[in-house]
Amino acid sequence: MTPVPLLDLGPQNRALEAELRAAFERVMSSNMFILGPEMDAFEKDCASALGVKHAIGVSSGTDALLLALMALGVGKGDEVLLPAFTFFATAGSVVRLGAEPVWCDVDPHTYNLDLADAARKIGPRCKAIMPVHLFGQSMDMSAATAFAKAHKLFVIEDAAQSMGARWQGKPTMAWGEFGATSFFPSKNLGGFGDSGLVTTSDDSLAERARILRVHGMQPKYYHKFVGANFRMDPLQAAMLRAKLPHLPSYNCARAGNANFYKSTLLGKPGIAENTAGASGGAKILLPKDFSGEGIWNQFTLRVLNGKRDALKAFLADRKIGSEVYYPLTLDRQECFRNSGRGTEGLGVSHRLSEEVLSIPIFPELTDIQRSTVADALAEFARS
Ligand SMILES: *Cc1c(COP(=O)(O)O)cnc(C)c1O
Repeated sequence: MTPVPLLDLGPQNRALEAELRAAFERVMSSNMFILGPEMDAFEKDCASALGVKHAIGVSSGTDALLLALMALGVGKGDEVLLPAFTFFATAGSVVRLGAEPVWCDVDPHTYNLDLADAARKIGPRCKAIMPVHLFGQSMDMSAATAFAKAHKLFVIEDAAQSMGARWQGKPTMAWGEFGATSFFPSKNLGGFGDSGLVTTSDDSLAERARILRVHGMQPKYYHKFVGANFRMDPLQAAMLRAKLPHLPSYNCARAGNANFYKSTLLGKPGIAENTAGASGGAKILLPKDFSGEGIWNQFTLRVLNGKRDALKAFLADRKIGSEVYYPLTLDRQECFRNSGRGTEGLGVSHRLSEEVLSIPIFPELTDIQRSTVADALAEFARS
């Protein structure tokens, strides 16, 4: 049996070993280890790849969200609309600033924030909305920005899982006042440790974010705002810059794997696509890219009839990695028991947390590996 890890970072970085070593040597011999020309160059490349005026390298995706919220002045007394079904950092950044999340349900097919629920829960203290392009699929950003405009909300896109995805031709991170992404090694552009990026096309917001990134300091040792140290390392920037031109090919290879799973499995007994009304009798639902321009960070199944953990164990027996993103929705996290509102009407989020299972989709998956995964799923679904 061919083992199939959920993620194998080795082959991708090995293929660029010469460029990565050159980047490392360049930074090492420059003796410039804080900001500087490597950072500027990486930020310029990112801005042009994402179709925004400003890209600002930061210490992590979490800090990217925090910095964006800080630059917009979100704090005590404010509320922020965000999905209950997402990674912790989306809400953690809001609560750390003394603001309150308003938990919104998600759509059962796209897994993204349900604007109808946001409309039911919005109140006078809501200052911003955070669409999360979960698993790589862009939220409907025309609808989200129209909603934000109607209610005078800032938009902060959590694009940690969607670098390279578009909606109607325009990249995620280019729609809101701010976009935030992560270069955590498992993301679509995986770095060599922690780092992230903030984007905006507003000059004054960009300036504010850059000042907040260095302790709110401008000029040196004169502090305008209470910022923090949110800097990305130039070493990280130089190495990521070597990988950035390859992002489209990584995303393309992930899409190839997604298409392989679909073309091999759809129509097999017990397997259907996760679209409205399509689940009659199915045990496993395969995700669909509703925008047609999403990218795949995760390929996330819905496993029906309480069989999710059984499938996870079945795959583990065959040495196939899988993971539950995410087993507990944010409204139910212990740390948020006294935070936020909107805990009613989160049925889809709660259900997804019991049904979802992500399977290997990384770009360097071999033909044998992905066939092994598909065969195992087909066997489970027909039994
Ligand atoms: C990974 C992730 C983050 C946080 O990024 P880090 O770089 O790990 O801090 C935030 N939001 C979502 C949706 C993520 O997947």
